[in-house]
Amino acid sequence: MGAVMTDTPAPASGAPLRLFNSLTRQLEPFAPVHPGEARVYSCGPTVYNYPHIGNMRAYVFADTLGRTLTYKGYRLTHVINITDVGHLTDDADAGEDKLEKAAAERAQSIWDIARHYTEAYWADIKALNIRQPAHWSIATDYVPQMIDFAKAIADKHCYELDSGLYFDTTSVADYGRLARHGTDEGESRIDPVDGKRHPADFAIWRKTPPGETRQMEWDSPWGRGAPGWHLECSVMSEALLGFPFDIHTGGIDHREIHHPNEIAQNQAHSCSADSGARMWMHNNFLVERSGKMSKSSGEFLRLQLLIDKGYHPLAYRLMCLQAHYRSELEFSWEGLGAALTRLKRMLKVIEVKLWREYKAAGQPVYDPAIFPPIPRDEWDNIDVTGFIRDFDAAISEDLNTPKVLPMTELAMVENVLGDPTISNQLRWRVVATMDQVLGLNLLSLKRTDLRIRPKNATIDEEGITSVLEARQLAREQKNFAQADEFRNLLLNHGVEVMDGDPLGWDWRLEN
Ligand code: AMP
Ligand code: ZN
Repeated sequence: MGAVMTDTPAPASGAPLRLFNSLTRQLEPFAPVHPGEARVYSCGPTVYNYPHIGNMRAYVFADTLGRTLTYKGYRLTHVINITDVGHLTDDADAGEDKLEKAAAERAQSIWDIARHYTEAYWADIKALNIRQPAHWSIATDYVPQMIDFAKAIADKHCYELDSGLYFDTTSVADYGRLARHGTDEGESRIDPVDGKRHPADFAIWRKTPPGETRQMEWDSPWGRGAPGWHLECSVMSEALLGFPFDIHTGGIDHREIHHPNEIAQNQAHSCSADSGARMWMHNNFLVERSGKMSKSSGEFLRLQLLIDKGYHPLAYRLMCLQAHYRSELEFSWEGLGAALTRLKRMLKVIEVKLWREYKAAGQPVYDPAIFPPIPRDEWDNIDVTGFIRDFDAAISEDLNTPKVLPMTELAMVENVLGDPTISNQLRWRVVATMDQVLGLNLLSLKRTDLRIRPKNATIDEEGITSVLEARQLAREQKNFAQADEFRNLLLNHGVEVMDGDPLGWDWRLEN
Protein backbone atom coordinates (compact mmCIF):
# COMPACT_ATOMS: atom_id res chain seq x y z
CA MET A 1 0.00 0.00 0.00
CA GLY A 2 1.51 3.35 -0.96
CA ALA A 3 0.29 6.91 -0.61
CA VAL A 4 -2.61 6.29 -2.96
CA MET A 5 -5.17 9.08 -3.12
CA THR A 6 -8.70 7.84 -2.81
CA ASP A 7 -11.84 9.76 -3.58
CA THR A 8 -13.29 9.41 -0.08
CA PRO A 9 -14.86 12.78 0.70
CA ALA A 10 -13.12 14.94 3.25
CA PRO A 11 -14.92 15.20 6.60
CA ALA A 12 -17.52 17.89 7.00
CA SER A 13 -16.60 21.16 8.62
CA GLY A 14 -16.00 21.90 12.28
CA ALA A 15 -12.90 23.24 13.98
CA PRO A 16 -9.70 22.09 12.29
CA LEU A 17 -8.14 19.20 14.19
CA ARG A 18 -4.71 20.14 15.51
CA LEU A 19 -2.44 17.62 17.19
CA PHE A 20 0.93 17.84 18.89
CA ASN A 21 3.55 16.17 16.73
CA SER A 22 6.53 15.01 18.78
CA LEU A 23 8.69 15.15 15.66
CA THR A 24 8.40 18.93 15.43
CA ARG A 25 7.35 19.54 19.05
CA GLN A 26 4.51 21.63 17.66
CA LEU A 27 0.78 21.61 17.19
CA GLU A 28 0.02 20.78 13.57
CA PRO A 29 -3.18 20.52 11.58
CA PHE A 30 -4.17 16.93 10.93
CA ALA A 31 -3.86 16.45 7.17
CA PRO A 32 -4.57 12.83 6.31
CA VAL A 33 -2.43 10.97 3.81
CA HIS A 34 -5.60 9.49 2.30
CA PRO A 35 -8.39 12.06 2.19
CA GLY A 36 -11.18 11.23 4.59
CA GLU A 37 -9.20 8.47 6.29
CA ALA A 38 -7.10 8.23 9.42
CA ARG A 39 -4.58 5.43 9.83
CA VAL A 40 -3.16 5.05 13.31
CA TYR A 41 -0.65 2.61 14.79
CA SER A 42 -0.22 2.28 18.56
CA CYS A 43 2.66 0.43 20.17
CA GLY A 44 1.08 -2.35 22.15
CA PRO A 45 2.04 -4.16 25.34
CA THR A 46 4.87 -6.58 25.94
CA VAL A 47 2.91 -9.54 27.23
CA TYR A 48 5.19 -11.04 29.86
CA ASN A 49 3.13 -9.79 32.79
CA TYR A 50 -0.16 -8.00 33.52
CA PRO A 51 -0.41 -4.45 32.21
CA HIS A 52 -0.31 -1.83 34.96
CA ILE A 53 -2.71 1.09 34.99
CA GLY A 54 0.05 3.34 33.59
CA ASN A 55 0.22 1.15 30.49
CA MET A 56 -3.55 1.40 30.21
CA ARG A 57 -3.29 5.20 30.23
CA ALA A 58 -1.46 4.84 26.89
CA TYR A 59 -4.46 2.99 25.43
CA VAL A 60 -7.06 5.35 26.92
CA PHE A 61 -5.11 8.08 25.10
CA ALA A 62 -4.93 6.11 21.82
CA ASP A 63 -8.66 5.40 22.13
CA THR A 64 -9.47 9.06 22.77
CA LEU A 65 -7.47 9.95 19.68
CA GLY A 66 -9.27 7.26 17.65
CA ARG A 67 -12.69 8.33 18.94
CA THR A 68 -11.92 11.95 18.13
CA LEU A 69 -10.87 11.05 14.59
CA THR A 70 -14.08 9.06 14.10
CA TYR A 71 -16.14 11.87 15.62
CA LYS A 72 -14.45 14.36 13.28
CA GLY A 73 -15.65 12.22 10.39
CA TYR A 74 -12.53 10.32 9.38
CA ARG A 75 -12.70 6.66 8.52
CA LEU A 76 -10.35 5.20 11.12
CA THR A 77 -8.07 2.20 10.73
CA HIS A 78 -6.36 1.57 14.05
CA VAL A 79 -3.70 -1.07 14.66
CA ILE A 80 -2.36 -2.11 18.06
CA ASN A 81 0.40 -4.68 18.19
CA ILE A 82 1.09 -7.35 20.78
CA THR A 83 4.79 -7.78 21.52
CA ASP A 84 5.22 -11.47 22.23
CA VAL A 85 8.89 -11.69 21.28
CA GLY A 86 12.07 -9.70 21.37
CA HIS A 87 11.58 -6.91 23.92
CA LEU A 88 14.61 -7.05 26.19
CA THR A 89 14.67 -6.10 29.86
CA ASP A 90 16.31 -2.86 28.70
CA ASP A 91 15.06 -0.90 25.69
CA ALA A 92 18.62 -0.49 24.44
CA ASP A 93 19.56 -4.10 23.73
CA ALA A 94 20.74 -4.97 27.22
CA GLY A 95 19.48 -7.86 29.28
CA GLU A 96 17.34 -10.82 28.37
CA ASP A 97 14.18 -11.24 26.37
CA LYS A 98 11.38 -10.33 28.80
CA LEU A 99 9.21 -13.22 27.64
CA GLU A 100 11.97 -15.84 27.66
CA LYS A 101 12.88 -14.64 31.18
CA ALA A 102 9.30 -14.90 32.44
CA ALA A 103 8.97 -18.38 30.91
CA ALA A 104 12.19 -19.55 32.56
CA GLU A 105 11.19 -18.11 35.95
CA ARG A 106 7.74 -19.64 35.88
CA ALA A 107 8.70 -22.92 34.17
CA GLN A 108 5.92 -22.38 31.66
CA SER A 109 5.74 -22.34 27.91
CA ILE A 110 6.49 -18.92 26.53
CA TRP A 111 3.45 -19.24 24.25
CA ASP A 112 1.17 -19.88 27.26
CA ILE A 113 2.60 -16.86 29.05
CA ALA A 114 2.03 -14.64 26.04
CA ARG A 115 -1.54 -15.89 25.57
CA HIS A 116 -2.43 -15.49 29.25
CA TYR A 117 -1.22 -11.91 29.49
CA THR A 118 -2.63 -10.94 26.10
CA GLU A 119 -6.03 -12.04 27.33
CA ALA A 120 -5.60 -10.14 30.60
CA TYR A 121 -4.72 -7.03 28.58
CA TRP A 122 -7.76 -7.47 26.36
CA ALA A 123 -9.96 -7.76 29.48
CA ASP A 124 -8.61 -4.38 30.66
CA ILE A 125 -9.22 -2.90 27.21
CA LYS A 126 -12.85 -4.00 27.39
CA ALA A 127 -13.34 -2.84 30.99
CA LEU A 128 -12.08 0.63 30.10
CA ASN A 129 -14.44 0.84 27.13
CA ILE A 130 -11.52 1.14 24.73
CA ARG A 131 -12.78 0.40 21.24
CA GLN A 132 -11.42 -2.63 19.43
CA PRO A 133 -8.84 -1.63 16.81
CA ALA A 134 -9.25 -2.86 13.25
CA HIS A 135 -6.24 -5.15 13.78
CA TRP A 136 -4.48 -6.63 16.75
CA SER A 137 -1.17 -7.49 15.14
CA ILE A 138 0.80 -10.22 16.88
CA ALA A 139 4.57 -9.91 16.45
CA THR A 140 5.27 -13.64 16.09
CA ASP A 141 2.85 -13.81 13.14
CA TYR A 142 5.14 -11.47 11.20
CA VAL A 143 8.59 -13.01 11.63
CA PRO A 144 9.01 -13.99 7.92
CA GLN A 145 8.12 -10.41 6.92
CA MET A 146 10.59 -9.10 9.53
CA ILE A 147 13.33 -11.26 8.00
CA ASP A 148 12.48 -9.93 4.52
CA PHE A 149 12.56 -6.35 5.83
CA ALA A 150 15.96 -6.99 7.47
CA LYS A 151 17.30 -8.56 4.25
CA ALA A 152 16.26 -5.47 2.30
CA ILE A 153 18.19 -3.09 4.57
CA ALA A 154 21.08 -5.35 5.65
CA ASP A 155 23.64 -4.45 2.97
CA LYS A 156 23.36 -0.70 3.16
CA HIS A 157 22.46 -0.13 6.79
CA CYS A 158 23.55 -3.06 8.97
CA TYR A 159 26.64 -4.93 10.12
CA GLU A 160 26.98 -8.37 11.61
CA LEU A 161 28.57 -9.25 14.96
CA ASP A 162 28.76 -12.58 16.76
CA SER A 163 25.68 -11.62 18.73
CA GLY A 164 23.52 -10.52 15.79
CA LEU A 165 22.79 -8.11 13.01
CA TYR A 166 23.00 -4.45 14.04
CA PHE A 167 21.64 -1.28 12.53
CA ASP A 168 24.20 1.44 11.93
CA THR A 169 22.46 4.56 13.11
CA THR A 170 24.85 6.82 11.18
CA SER A 171 23.60 5.32 7.91
CA VAL A 172 20.39 7.38 7.96
CA ALA A 173 19.85 11.10 7.98
CA ASP A 174 19.28 12.81 11.28
CA TYR A 175 19.11 9.76 13.56
CA GLY A 176 17.40 10.54 16.85
CA ARG A 177 15.63 13.70 15.66
CA LEU A 178 12.50 12.56 17.49
CA ALA A 179 14.33 12.15 20.77
CA ARG A 180 16.49 15.18 20.08
CA HIS A 181 19.67 13.21 20.50
CA GLY A 182 22.34 11.93 18.13
CA THR A 183 24.15 8.66 17.76
CA ASP A 184 26.89 9.45 20.23
CA GLU A 185 25.77 12.27 22.41
CA GLY A 186 22.80 13.01 24.59
CA GLU A 187 22.30 9.46 25.76
CA SER A 188 23.16 8.19 29.18
CA ARG A 189 22.86 4.62 27.98
CA ILE A 190 25.85 2.38 28.31
CA ASP A 191 26.83 0.21 25.42
CA PRO A 192 26.11 -3.34 26.49
CA VAL A 193 27.16 -5.09 23.29
CA ASP A 194 30.77 -5.76 22.29
CA GLY A 195 31.68 -4.41 18.90
CA LYS A 196 28.82 -2.00 18.30
CA ARG A 197 30.04 0.86 16.18
CA HIS A 198 28.00 3.55 17.90
CA PRO A 199 26.26 3.42 21.26
CA ALA A 200 22.85 4.00 19.68
CA ASP A 201 23.15 1.15 17.13
CA PHE A 202 20.56 -1.51 17.81
CA ALA A 203 19.82 -5.13 17.08
CA ILE A 204 17.78 -6.05 14.03
CA TRP A 205 18.36 -9.76 14.58
CA ARG A 206 19.59 -11.41 17.79
CA LYS A 207 21.45 -14.66 17.23
CA THR A 208 20.88 -17.44 19.70
CA PRO A 209 24.27 -17.85 21.45
CA PRO A 210 26.06 -21.12 20.59
CA GLY A 211 25.02 -24.00 22.85
CA GLU A 212 21.77 -22.29 23.89
CA THR A 213 18.22 -22.67 22.66
CA ARG A 214 15.41 -20.21 23.00
CA GLN A 215 11.77 -21.21 23.16
CA MET A 216 11.12 -18.75 20.36
CA GLU A 217 13.67 -18.83 17.58
CA TRP A 218 13.65 -18.82 13.81
CA ASP A 219 16.15 -19.46 11.00
CA SER A 220 17.48 -16.42 9.20
CA PRO A 221 20.37 -15.51 6.89
CA TRP A 222 22.22 -14.42 10.07
CA GLY A 223 21.66 -17.70 11.88
CA ARG A 224 19.02 -19.00 14.22
CA GLY A 225 17.62 -16.38 16.55
CA ALA A 226 14.91 -13.82 17.13
CA PRO A 227 14.10 -10.39 15.75
CA GLY A 228 15.14 -7.20 17.55
CA TRP A 229 12.20 -5.54 19.27
CA HIS A 230 11.99 -2.40 17.11
CA LEU A 231 11.65 -4.34 13.87
CA GLU A 232 8.12 -5.59 14.50
CA CYS A 233 6.50 -2.15 14.61
CA SER A 234 8.14 -1.00 11.36
CA VAL A 235 7.06 -4.18 9.60
CA MET A 236 3.51 -4.43 10.93
CA SER A 237 2.70 -0.74 10.55
CA GLU A 238 3.81 -0.81 6.92
CA ALA A 239 2.04 -4.11 6.20
CA LEU A 240 -1.27 -3.01 7.68
CA LEU A 241 -1.33 0.75 7.09
CA GLY A 242 1.11 1.44 4.24
CA PHE A 243 3.90 4.03 4.40
CA PRO A 244 3.43 6.82 5.07
CA PHE A 245 0.49 6.52 7.42
CA ASP A 246 -0.98 9.23 9.60
CA ILE A 247 -0.21 8.83 13.30
CA HIS A 248 2.00 6.60 15.40
CA THR A 249 1.36 6.61 19.16
CA GLY A 250 3.07 5.38 22.30
CA GLY A 251 4.08 6.40 25.79
CA ILE A 252 6.64 9.18 26.21
CA ASP A 253 9.39 6.62 26.98
CA HIS A 254 9.13 5.41 23.37
CA ARG A 255 10.11 8.86 22.13
CA GLU A 256 13.65 8.19 23.35
CA ILE A 257 14.69 4.81 21.89
CA HIS A 258 11.98 2.65 20.36
CA HIS A 259 10.48 5.23 18.01
CA PRO A 260 13.77 6.79 16.87
CA ASN A 261 14.86 3.24 15.99
CA GLU A 262 11.62 2.51 14.15
CA ILE A 263 12.08 5.75 12.22
CA ALA A 264 15.66 4.83 11.29
CA GLN A 265 14.47 1.43 10.00
CA ASN A 266 11.63 3.04 8.06
CA GLN A 267 13.99 5.52 6.46
CA ALA A 268 16.36 2.73 5.49
CA HIS A 269 13.57 0.58 4.05
CA SER A 270 11.94 3.39 2.09
CA CYS A 271 15.31 4.82 0.95
CA SER A 272 14.12 8.26 2.00
CA ALA A 273 14.16 10.67 4.92
CA ASP A 274 10.52 9.86 5.55
CA SER A 275 9.82 8.71 9.11
CA GLY A 276 7.00 6.35 8.09
CA ALA A 277 4.29 8.21 9.97
CA ARG A 278 3.35 11.86 9.47
CA MET A 279 2.83 12.42 13.17
CA TRP A 280 4.30 10.78 16.24
CA MET A 281 2.22 11.33 19.37
CA HIS A 282 3.15 10.44 22.93
CA ASN A 283 1.19 10.29 26.15
CA ASN A 284 2.90 11.35 29.34
CA PHE A 285 3.25 8.94 32.25
CA LEU A 286 0.96 8.00 35.05
CA VAL A 287 3.20 8.16 38.10
CA GLU A 288 2.86 6.68 41.51
CA ARG A 289 5.21 7.71 44.26
CA SER A 290 5.78 4.34 45.91
CA GLY A 291 6.90 2.62 42.70
CA LYS A 292 4.04 0.13 42.47
CA MET A 293 3.75 0.77 38.75
CA SER A 294 6.88 -1.08 37.78
CA LYS A 295 6.04 -4.53 36.44
CA SER A 296 9.36 -5.83 37.67
CA SER A 297 8.75 -4.72 41.28
CA GLY A 298 6.49 -7.63 42.25
CA GLU A 299 3.19 -6.10 43.39
CA PHE A 300 2.01 -3.37 41.08
CA LEU A 301 -1.13 -1.44 40.25
CA ARG A 302 -3.35 -3.40 37.91
CA LEU A 303 -6.84 -2.43 36.84
CA GLN A 304 -8.11 -5.56 38.59
CA LEU A 305 -6.74 -4.25 41.90
CA LEU A 306 -8.86 -1.12 41.47
CA ILE A 307 -11.90 -3.26 40.72
CA ASP A 308 -11.21 -5.53 43.69
CA LYS A 309 -11.19 -2.46 45.90
CA GLY A 310 -14.62 -1.52 44.62
CA TYR A 311 -13.83 1.10 41.96
CA HIS A 312 -15.58 0.93 38.63
CA PRO A 313 -12.98 0.84 35.79
CA LEU A 314 -14.67 3.79 34.07
CA ALA A 315 -13.78 5.90 37.11
CA TYR A 316 -10.15 5.26 36.11
CA ARG A 317 -10.95 6.21 32.51
CA LEU A 318 -12.46 9.45 33.79
CA MET A 319 -9.40 10.04 35.95
CA CYS A 320 -7.23 9.79 32.82
CA LEU A 321 -9.50 12.16 30.88
CA GLN A 322 -9.31 14.75 33.65
CA ALA A 323 -5.64 15.31 32.78
CA HIS A 324 -4.36 16.34 29.38
CA TYR A 325 -2.63 13.37 27.76
CA ARG A 326 0.65 15.32 27.55
CA SER A 327 0.71 16.08 31.28
CA GLU A 328 2.07 13.75 33.87
CA LEU A 329 -0.73 12.34 36.01
CA GLU A 330 -0.17 11.26 39.57
CA PHE A 331 -2.17 8.30 40.73
CA SER A 332 -3.68 8.35 44.21
CA TRP A 333 -6.60 6.51 45.73
CA GLU A 334 -8.06 9.88 46.73
CA GLY A 335 -7.86 11.04 43.12
CA LEU A 336 -9.54 7.87 41.93
CA GLY A 337 -12.23 8.30 44.58
CA ALA A 338 -12.84 11.86 43.41
CA ALA A 339 -13.19 10.66 39.81
CA LEU A 340 -15.70 8.04 40.94
CA THR A 341 -17.71 10.69 42.77
CA ARG A 342 -17.67 12.89 39.67
CA LEU A 343 -18.98 10.02 37.56
CA LYS A 344 -21.66 9.25 40.13
CA ARG A 345 -22.71 12.90 40.07
CA MET A 346 -23.10 12.88 36.31
CA LEU A 347 -25.13 9.69 36.40
CA LYS A 348 -27.29 11.10 39.16
CA VAL A 349 -28.18 14.09 36.97
CA ILE A 350 -28.91 11.78 34.08
CA GLU A 351 -31.04 9.53 36.23
CA VAL A 352 -33.08 12.34 37.71
CA LYS A 353 -33.55 14.30 34.53
CA LEU A 354 -33.43 11.83 31.72
CA TRP A 355 -34.80 8.56 32.97
CA ARG A 356 -37.57 10.10 35.02
CA GLU A 357 -38.62 12.35 32.15
CA TYR A 358 -38.46 9.36 29.94
CA LYS A 359 -40.68 7.29 32.19
CA ALA A 360 -43.06 10.22 32.65
CA ALA A 361 -43.42 10.39 28.88
CA GLY A 362 -44.83 6.87 29.04
CA GLN A 363 -41.84 5.05 27.58
CA PRO A 364 -41.68 1.75 29.40
CA VAL A 365 -38.12 0.68 28.63
CA TYR A 366 -35.21 3.08 28.59
CA ASP A 367 -33.24 2.84 25.37
CA PRO A 368 -30.14 5.01 24.84
CA ALA A 369 -30.53 4.52 21.08
CA ILE A 370 -33.36 7.07 21.26
CA PHE A 371 -30.66 9.70 21.77
CA PRO A 372 -28.24 9.26 18.85
CA PRO A 373 -25.28 11.63 18.51
CA ILE A 374 -25.98 14.63 16.29
CA PRO A 375 -24.30 14.17 12.92
CA ARG A 376 -22.00 16.93 11.80
CA ASP A 377 -24.06 17.84 8.75
CA GLU A 378 -27.03 18.63 11.03
CA TRP A 379 -25.07 21.02 13.22
CA ASP A 380 -26.05 24.09 11.30
CA ASN A 381 -29.75 23.32 11.56
CA ILE A 382 -30.08 22.88 15.29
CA ASP A 383 -30.47 25.19 18.24
CA VAL A 384 -27.46 23.97 20.18
CA THR A 385 -24.89 24.79 17.54
CA GLY A 386 -22.92 27.23 19.69
CA PHE A 387 -22.64 24.77 22.54
CA ILE A 388 -21.57 21.87 20.40
CA ARG A 389 -19.11 24.03 18.50
CA ASP A 390 -17.36 25.04 21.73
CA PHE A 391 -16.97 21.39 22.56
CA ASP A 392 -15.73 20.68 19.05
CA ALA A 393 -13.18 23.49 19.24
CA ALA A 394 -11.80 22.24 22.58
CA ILE A 395 -11.46 18.59 21.63
CA SER A 396 -10.02 19.55 18.25
CA GLU A 397 -7.23 21.47 19.94
CA ASP A 398 -4.96 18.52 20.76
CA LEU A 399 -7.67 16.50 22.53
CA ASN A 400 -8.33 18.84 25.43
CA THR A 401 -10.36 16.39 27.51
CA PRO A 402 -9.98 18.31 30.81
CA LYS A 403 -11.68 21.25 29.09
CA VAL A 404 -14.51 19.28 27.49
CA LEU A 405 -15.52 17.31 30.59
CA PRO A 406 -17.14 20.33 32.33
CA MET A 407 -18.84 21.17 29.02
CA THR A 408 -20.44 17.76 29.03
CA GLU A 409 -21.53 18.23 32.63
CA LEU A 410 -23.00 21.62 31.74
CA ALA A 411 -24.90 20.20 28.80
CA MET A 412 -26.79 18.00 31.23
CA VAL A 413 -28.01 20.93 33.26
CA GLU A 414 -31.38 22.42 32.60
CA ASN A 415 -31.50 25.66 30.61
CA VAL A 416 -27.80 25.93 30.20
CA LEU A 417 -28.24 25.47 26.52
CA GLY A 418 -29.69 28.95 26.62
CA ASP A 419 -33.11 28.33 25.24
CA PRO A 420 -35.79 26.77 27.46
CA THR A 421 -37.59 25.53 24.41
CA ILE A 422 -34.76 23.20 23.49
CA SER A 423 -36.18 19.77 23.82
CA ASN A 424 -34.84 17.34 26.34
CA GLN A 425 -34.30 14.91 23.55
CA LEU A 426 -31.94 17.32 21.86
CA ARG A 427 -30.12 17.95 25.13
CA TRP A 428 -29.41 14.26 25.59
CA ARG A 429 -28.35 14.02 21.99
CA VAL A 430 -25.76 16.72 22.75
CA VAL A 431 -24.47 14.60 25.64
CA ALA A 432 -24.41 11.54 23.36
CA THR A 433 -22.40 13.52 20.82
CA MET A 434 -19.82 14.42 23.46
CA ASP A 435 -19.71 10.92 24.89
CA GLN A 436 -18.66 9.59 21.50
CA VAL A 437 -15.30 11.11 22.35
CA LEU A 438 -15.27 10.55 26.11
CA GLY A 439 -16.31 6.90 25.99
CA LEU A 440 -17.88 6.99 29.46
CA ASN A 441 -21.13 5.28 28.40
CA LEU A 442 -22.98 8.15 30.06
CA LEU A 443 -26.37 7.34 28.59
CA SER A 444 -26.33 3.62 29.21
CA LEU A 445 -24.44 3.26 32.48
CA LYS A 446 -26.60 3.23 35.58
CA ARG A 447 -25.66 4.58 38.96
CA THR A 448 -25.97 1.15 40.44
CA ASP A 449 -23.45 -0.20 37.89
CA LEU A 450 -20.86 1.87 39.72
CA ARG A 451 -21.41 -0.18 42.81
CA ILE A 452 -18.76 -2.84 42.65
CA ARG A 453 -18.39 -5.14 45.62
CA PRO A 454 -14.85 -5.07 46.93
CA LYS A 455 -13.25 -8.51 46.80
CA ASN A 456 -13.15 -8.77 50.60
CA ALA A 457 -16.76 -7.71 51.19
CA THR A 458 -18.63 -10.01 53.58
CA ILE A 459 -22.15 -9.22 52.45
CA ASP A 460 -23.70 -9.21 49.01
CA GLU A 461 -26.00 -6.66 47.44
CA GLU A 462 -29.16 -8.67 48.09
CA GLY A 463 -28.23 -9.03 51.75
CA ILE A 464 -27.66 -5.28 52.05
CA THR A 465 -30.98 -4.49 50.37
CA SER A 466 -32.95 -6.80 52.65
CA VAL A 467 -31.38 -5.38 55.84
CA LEU A 468 -32.03 -1.85 54.54
CA GLU A 469 -35.68 -2.74 53.90
CA ALA A 470 -36.05 -4.18 57.39
CA ARG A 471 -34.47 -1.02 58.80
CA GLN A 472 -36.86 1.15 56.83
CA LEU A 473 -39.81 -0.83 58.19
CA ALA A 474 -38.52 -0.45 61.76
CA ARG A 475 -38.23 3.30 61.22
CA GLU A 476 -41.74 3.53 59.87
CA GLN A 477 -42.92 1.71 62.99
CA LYS A 478 -40.92 4.20 65.04
CA ASN A 479 -38.84 1.34 66.43
CA PHE A 480 -35.63 3.34 66.32
CA ALA A 481 -33.65 1.01 68.54
CA GLN A 482 -34.21 -1.82 66.11
CA ALA A 483 -33.46 0.45 63.15
CA ASP A 484 -30.09 1.27 64.78
CA GLU A 485 -29.38 -2.42 65.26
CA PHE A 486 -29.83 -2.97 61.55
CA ARG A 487 -27.56 -0.07 60.83
CA ASN A 488 -24.87 -1.54 63.13
CA LEU A 489 -25.29 -4.93 61.56
CA LEU A 490 -24.45 -3.40 58.20
CA LEU A 491 -21.54 -1.48 59.71
CA ASN A 492 -20.09 -4.78 60.95
CA HIS A 493 -20.05 -5.90 57.33
CA GLY A 494 -18.25 -2.71 56.30
CA VAL A 495 -21.39 -1.12 54.89
CA GLU A 496 -22.04 2.50 55.72
CA VAL A 497 -25.68 3.62 55.52
CA MET A 498 -25.93 7.01 53.83
CA ASP A 499 -29.23 8.66 54.74
CA GLY A 500 -29.82 11.87 52.82
CA ASP A 501 -26.74 11.56 50.64
CA PRO A 502 -26.86 14.39 48.07
CA LEU A 503 -25.96 11.98 45.31
CA GLY A 504 -28.80 9.70 46.32
CA TRP A 505 -26.70 6.77 47.46
CA ASP A 506 -28.31 4.78 50.21
CA TRP A 507 -25.21 2.81 51.17
CA ARG A 508 -21.52 2.56 50.57
CA LEU A 509 -19.00 -0.20 51.13
CA GLU A 510 -15.85 0.74 52.96
CA ASN A 511 -12.74 -0.28 51.07
P1 AMP B 1 5.12 -1.92 27.46
O1 AMP B 1 4.19 -3.07 27.72
O2 AMP B 1 6.15 -1.73 28.52
O3 AMP B 1 5.73 -2.00 26.09
O4 AMP B 1 4.22 -0.57 27.51
C1 AMP B 1 3.00 -0.42 26.87
C2 AMP B 1 2.69 1.06 26.69
O5 AMP B 1 2.55 1.71 27.96
C3 AMP B 1 3.77 1.83 25.95
O6 AMP B 1 3.15 2.73 25.04
C4 AMP B 1 4.49 2.58 27.05
O7 AMP B 1 5.10 3.74 26.56
C5 AMP B 1 3.33 2.91 27.96
N1 AMP B 1 3.67 3.17 29.37
C6 AMP B 1 4.54 2.48 30.15
N2 AMP B 1 4.52 2.96 31.42
C7 AMP B 1 3.63 3.98 31.44
C8 AMP B 1 3.16 4.88 32.47
N3 AMP B 1 3.58 4.81 33.74
N4 AMP B 1 2.24 5.81 32.13
C9 AMP B 1 1.77 5.89 30.87
N5 AMP B 1 2.17 5.07 29.85
C10 AMP B 1 3.09 4.12 30.14
ZN1 ZN C 1 6.33 -0.20 18.79
